[in-house]
Amino acid sequence: MPSEKASAIVLRVADFSETSCVATLFTREFGKVRGIAKGARRLKGPFDSALDLLSVCRVVFLRKQSDVLDILTEARLERSFRPRAKDLSCLNAGYYVGELLREMTDDYDAHPELYDAAEQTLADLSAGTTPVFELTLRFELVLLQLLGHLPSLSTCAECGTPIPLQGKIHFAHLCGGVICTRCRAGKPQVATVTPAVIAVLQAWSPRPSTHLPSRPSDTIGAPSHRDVSELLGSRATCGALRGLMAHYIAHLVGHPLRMHRYLTTDPQR
Ligand SMILES: [Zn+2]
Repeated sequence: MPSEKASAIVLRVADFSETSCVATLFTREFGKVRGIAKGARRLKGPFDSALDLLSVCRVVFLRKQSDVLDILTEARLERSFRPRAKDLSCLNAGYYVGELLREMTDDYDAHPELYDAAEQTLADLSAGTTPVFELTLRFELVLLQLLGHLPSLSTCAECGTPIPLQGKIHFAHLCGGVICTRCRAGKPQVATVTPAVIAVLQAWSPRPSTHLPSRPSDTIGAPSHRDVSELLGSRATCGALRGLMAHYIAHLVGHPLRMHRYLTTDPQR
């Protein structure tokens, strides 16, 4: 049985027996891993309080065959998740990052860039220098891009026609992004949003990797940082952004995520 070492974010810890627990981890090297940690509920031991929700730690585990839990033999705490005192929106956003990783990634499907983005987002949430609303939305967009689900935001997801940022814009959840009026006919699950909603998503979507040829239509008309602050001055825009992302991600996962309803719609938080 090979012994593996990895950097890990703790996504879930469930009691297994009086002394043991089962931990779900998102590791940088192997993706999502589930392992039984024998003796983890004792005060002193090879885990020494490293297995707290959203902690970042170094772990050692024995990799088992499919359908059997791995065995976690060691966990050393590197950083705890410490949301700002009395800031529930920050705590909820952290839980949501964990829920997204749990629900949207598969066991042993490594995404090191996603791991880095998640670790950075948890650190930024703890630091409290960037609004929770922005950190949450930016992380959702990075996750969607890295998992190949970033919605089409500047051209029709069906026919490729450029969609101008004006009037009412149709967003078809099942088609994977904005669609033109011609393609909209007869499509189920289409939301109608304002140009401001799409403009914020465009501005905060991660740019394509530098080794890929950039598509000019992705950047034309994308708003500047200052424009985004003005767009987010409207609570209606922020509420619509939350609703759109919740619906889109629920469609991808197959059910609504538990933490969606607790996420802030206040752009200053
Ligand atoms: Zn179209």
